Amino acid sequence: MLDIKGVKNKTMTINKNYLNLKDSYLFSTIAKRVREYSSENPTAKIIRMGIGDVTLPLTASVVSAMAKATAEMGEVANFKGYGDEQGYGFLRDAVKGYYSQKSVEINADEIFISDGAKSDIANVLDIFGLDNTVAIPNPVYPVYVDTNIMAGRKIVYMDGFEANNFLPMPDKKLKADIIYLCSPNNPTGAVYTKEQLTEWVDYANKNNAVILFDSAYEAFVQDKNLPTSIYQIKGAKTCAIEFCSLSKTAGFTGTRCGYTVVPKDLEREGKSLRNLWLRRQTTKFNGVPYIVQKGAEAVFSAQGQIEVNKNISYYMQNASLIAATLKDLGVWFCGAANAPYIWLKAPKGLDSWQLFDKLLTSANVVGTPGSGFGSNGEGYFRLSAFGNNELTAEAMERIKKAKMF
Ligand code: PLP
Repeated sequence: MLDIKGVKNKTMTINKNYLNLKDSYLFSTIAKRVREYSSENPTAKIIRMGIGDVTLPLTASVVSAMAKATAEMGEVANFKGYGDEQGYGFLRDAVKGYYSQKSVEINADEIFISDGAKSDIANVLDIFGLDNTVAIPNPVYPVYVDTNIMAGRKIVYMDGFEANNFLPMPDKKLKADIIYLCSPNNPTGAVYTKEQLTEWVDYANKNNAVILFDSAYEAFVQDKNLPTSIYQIKGAKTCAIEFCSLSKTAGFTGTRCGYTVVPKDLEREGKSLRNLWLRRQTTKFNGVPYIVQKGAEAVFSAQGQIEVNKNISYYMQNASLIAATLKDLGVWFCGAANAPYIWLKAPKGLDSWQLFDKLLTSANVVGTPGSGFGSNGEGYFRLSAFGNNELTAEAMERIKKAKMF
């Protein structure tokens, strides 16, 4: 191709790293198989325990705070245009207070309000060099893998399997600059202990690595001895960024609000990662709506916490029931006790998709094949506790009757 001066020019190019992504068929294939089965069996009453979306609505405190904020936006005196750079002070103070209750002291200027954990988990990669090696658990939430493939970084996988309860630990062979940890874990529901996270923090500080800690499900932890923030671990402020979200905690999957903590003590190559992230966000992100931030603030109020904890208990009843059923049936599983996910082993001879089909056809129950979360998920299956109590109970009865385990 020639430019206007007649000089030979190269053609425009695309980011070819995108061609290295595996097609993401997991949830579309699930939807297609359920659709086909339903049209062949129109009387079948399907119970969905697949997708990890919440089912309970926003709580009363959140709705009323957002209604009030909406009214304010229609008044000259209270109208808000562009908001504060890192999120409104009222919400960052509320998040700071939430951390204080966990015995973690974070400054409000280390907190960044976002439209959810997914965007921040993906966008944070902007502040890291492309030559870093990234360590990602297998299986895990697929966004970590795909975003690094898009950027062209080298990925090493950390194996999760039954023997380590799907919680990989650092070993002598591991050479990584960026480490993803997800606890409580999606899809396995497994939770790292303080001792295990201490090993990770020590590894990261010793090896100049940065941990990207995804605590999107922290509110589901019931065991008071388990950590709900990486900053409960000594030394974490010099090696970890934490991502959290109100999606699952407070039913914000459609409302969109989360927060990311980048401590001032976190430096690499002598530069503050908090300052790089601030620069990145102020350049590429214009904030979360005032109305949504007001709703989020209400989540952290005393009444808001009572309401969201009630909803979490509702989901955890489902998790307990699923766990009890699997125990009765002698099925290996992890999760459930401190997470809204149950990760179970398929019966001998069945792979993840075969179990999916069997559950669908013999119990009319939909779950998620574990193979969709990484190769080590093959032969495993995820059930979600985000459904309705009665339907979950019915699903368990059907699974028992179907005698597939
Ligand atoms: N992190 C994990 C582990 C998740 O499972 C999810 C959503 O399912 C997210 C982050 C994304 O959360 P958000 O809705 O805040 O973007």
